[in-house]
Amino acid sequence: MLIKPKRVPEFESGWAVGVKRRESPFFNHRPANEVSLLVIHNISLPAGCFGLPYIDQLFLGCLDVEADPSFIDLKGLEVSAHFLIRRDGEVIQYVSCDERAWHAGVSNFDGRSGCNDFAIGIELEGTDFEAYTQAQYDELLQLTLGLQTQYPSLGVDNIVGHSDIAPGRKTDPGDSFDWSWFKKRLI
Ligand SMILES: [Zn+2]
Repeated sequence: MLIKPKRVPEFESGWAVGVKRRESPFFNHRPANEVSLLVIHNISLPAGCFGLPYIDQLFLGCLDVEADPSFIDLKGLEVSAHFLIRRDGEVIQYVSCDERAWHAGVSNFDGRSGCNDFAIGIELEGTDFEAYTQAQYDELLQLTLGLQTQYPSLGVDNIVGHSDIAPGRKTDPGDSFDWSWFKKRLI
């Protein structure tokens, strides 16, 4: 049975209460204990395939690189995000929001590099070109409202796509993400 936030979640030690938790080994401490940026991503493994166990495996450090020829590039990769929202709206948290997950890579926001230091990363299972599901938007909205309450620096202007902080290198969440629907419902 899926455990989903039915309403805006609260947080305990950076973990969303009522959200499925699978702890990733890929995190470390935020150097200044600052959370002031939310980064929206997309991911699918293999590219364009949904509902498979490989994103989970990647973030947990146990990806079976033999499972698909494209995974050879992911061998030894140490990446994580705070949250994944699957196509059916299932939400999984991998890293406490009070800790630094490894999702942004080389990045810059408002003149500051190394966005992982102060960012929360949410991955939507999807691609740049296929519409996200309503279940994903609904869960993303509730989660983001909870994060905005817990971390007041996360104003609308501090919620961006990966492509905004790594232009030329990253394209996610892509044209398929409806920023206008999302942003007008935020605090
Ligand atoms: Zn990304």
